[in-house]
Amino acid sequence: MKRVVIYFIGIIIIIFLIPIICTSRDKETSAKVNNVVNEVPILENNYDYKGYKKIKLLHTKDSSIEEISLDEYLYGVVSAEMPANFEEEALKAQAVVARTYTIYKIKNNNNKHGEAQICDNSECCQAWISKEDRLARWNESERDKNWKKIVNAVDSTQGKIITYNNEPIDAFFHSNSGGKTEVPVNVWGGSGFPYLQVVETTGEENYSQYASEVTISKDELERKMKEKYNDFLIDYSDPNCIKILEYTESGRIKTIKIGNKNVSGVEVRSIFNLKSANFNILINESNIKFEVKGYGHGVGMSQTGADSLAKQGKTFEDILCHFYKDVEIKNM
Ligand SMILES: [Zn+2]
Repeated sequence: MKRVVIYFIGIIIIIFLIPIICTSRDKETSAKVNNVVNEVPILENNYDYKGYKKIKLLHTKDSSIEEISLDEYLYGVVSAEMPANFEEEALKAQAVVARTYTIYKIKNNNNKHGEAQICDNSECCQAWISKEDRLARWNESERDKNWKKIVNAVDSTQGKIITYNNEPIDAFFHSNSGGKTEVPVNVWGGSGFPYLQVVETTGEENYSQYASEVTISKDELERKMKEKYNDFLIDYSDPNCIKILEYTESGRIKTIKIGNKNVSGVEVRSIFNLKSANFNILINESNIKFEVKGYGHGVGMSQTGADSLAKQGKTFEDILCHFYKDVEIKNM
């Protein structure tokens, strides 16, 4: 009888307790599994730059995996993600962001790319372009100068990453903030990014990415909304048929009423292919016009903001500490 009771208690422990332990440690454990599989040392307080000397990059076009040095990979990321005519300090900031993002992804991708550690798709990881393709896209007269700038941005910041509480941050970045960055909760929900706050940057209005417009017919609006919500209805004779209900702290649309639906600004951005969730709506006789400010999700470093700050004499460290709060720039 005693034996039966002990077995019974044992089974209860296995069924209930072990999943609780696993769930609470899930993230950490899978990061470690990832590191073991890829034979990359786990990041502790001391970052091992040599441990990340080579990374396995997935080329999404042909699903091939290339083993490439971290610095060489970063040349390809910086030159794909930021125009080479941006200020040197902005390019350096981008290099540190790209390096931090890479280490964060390797640590937290949980074997998303199988054998590979990161991919070359900007929608998933970071954009990447080969040196050959990059040079071919620049005018011959600029090739040498541009490439040297990119290489210098990566080499002069070698091993530097952005940390918060001694851990690499999830270094989000975007094209143009429209003047103010956004907090992640308003874009993806969730929480846990104390270093990503709303910050203001001057000078972003001087870039072509700052302002854009999308005009669609009333019928098209109805069609696109119905693709998403099949019970969508709108009565254009009602002056309140489209009405902004709430803004986020950064001035983007939080909730908007369109016909019989309340939708988020982020959703409207996706449905109507707007450059950001910071917009105004004008209803004309037969058209709907979206006047949009900024380009991208708005979280983390704004690239044109970084360039604007560099033009104002700021260093890459100043720029990074402007966009990411209470962080440290550390050597890996
Ligand atoms: Zn990816």
